[in-house]
Amino acid sequence: MMEQKCLPEVSIFKCVKCTKTYSITSGHLGCLCGGLLEVNHDWTLFSLAEKLEHYKLHPSGVWRFKPLIHPEMPDKDIVTRGEGYTRLYSASRRILEFAGCNNLQFKHEGENPTGSFKDRGMTVGISEAKRLGIHTVVCASTGNTSASLAAYASYAGINATVILPKGKIAFGKLAQALAYGANVYTVEGIFDDAMQQVIDLAVKDGSYLLNSVNPWRIEGQKTIIFELLEKLNWESPDWIVVPAGNLGNTSAFGKALNEAYKLELITEIPRLAAVQAKGANPFVKLWKGGIFTPEPNPQTLATAINIGNPVSHSKALEALRFTKGVATSVTDQLILDSKAMIDRSGIGCEPASAATLAGIKKLVEEGIILPSEKVVAILTGHLLKDPQIVVDYHQNQLENIEAKYANRVKSYNN
Ligand SMILES: *Cc1c(COP(=O)(O)O)cnc(C)c1O
Ligand SMILES: [Zn+2]
Repeated sequence: MMEQKCLPEVSIFKCVKCTKTYSITSGHLGCLCGGLLEVNHDWTLFSLAEKLEHYKLHPSGVWRFKPLIHPEMPDKDIVTRGEGYTRLYSASRRILEFAGCNNLQFKHEGENPTGSFKDRGMTVGISEAKRLGIHTVVCASTGNTSASLAAYASYAGINATVILPKGKIAFGKLAQALAYGANVYTVEGIFDDAMQQVIDLAVKDGSYLLNSVNPWRIEGQKTIIFELLEKLNWESPDWIVVPAGNLGNTSAFGKALNEAYKLELITEIPRLAAVQAKGANPFVKLWKGGIFTPEPNPQTLATAINIGNPVSHSKALEALRFTKGVATSVTDQLILDSKAMIDRSGIGCEPASAATLAGIKKLVEEGIILPSEKVVAILTGHLLKDPQIVVDYHQNQLENIEAKYANRVKSYNN
């Protein structure tokens, strides 16, 4: 152990609050001070350009950036289902008119193996679990993390346990967690209650926690940004817009942009816009008022962002500071109108993903996003994740929602 310390470590965990560092094999996933850990890489210890070139053709859109996310991961421990390489779509004329902007593209993370961006973090998290010889992984989830964890754990031959808030999970996601063979538990309450339970469980039985407090999840999710920027020939868009729930993704985007800028891959820093639902917007309040207060009773139909106590709020706030970003919140009505627009254009997404278009429309109206600016919205999940809300919307059966763009089922009887 002592001798190991003499070798310079390429990757270390560092507390974002007190800057204390830990070895990545120490078993710590949080700082003793209570702060969040992040992974810091020392890219001066090897030739980054050479290594990037070496992995360039990797069949995974995450691991092709391995030197930027987990340089020391042995190739034999990588658990991948070929995640990433998601497409970029131009918005239809109708969507541009709806949003009030001229230059909008969607990056569709619903095209990942289990249908959400969570796979990008999970391939890194599960590979790390394999590297460490872990037998059981756990997470709390609003649905997509559990679907992804269940798939990747089974694929790697590792046991998975997930804790979900009862009755607050979209059907497609619950179906995936069951189908892929995870131990599925539900708790009364909301995601935040499930999160508390899973932290207790991980401490109690030593299983490996794979929520986004796990810094490796964030490393994997950085590749959404690297892949996007590469596709744009490393010319930054003006804005990158992301739905914000537990704020892992917002944090990952900030970290990726910071690193891309420091490594001189980009010269301009895009502004991040983090979009929450009105009924679950503690981060918007933090960003506006400077004080973080959890929302005890978050309420939105966009279940993936129905979170009152987002774990990564401090990292995400730093991400907005660094990118001169903004946080905003939108009504469920506007989220579902926006979703109907995205769906109808032939692209499709789950409700939380449509918060992006809703946020763009609002920010354009407020004069914060200019109509001429280049905007990329991240569609975080697949349309089929939540089929119930789609059918209910088009039958105009959602409480307090006016189905403005309903496509009704008609009976054929003439
Ligand atoms: C997890 C998730 C989000 C929220 O991402 P955070 O990193 O928790 O902020 C948004 N949309 C979908 C589809 C998700 O699965
Ligand atoms: Zn600390």
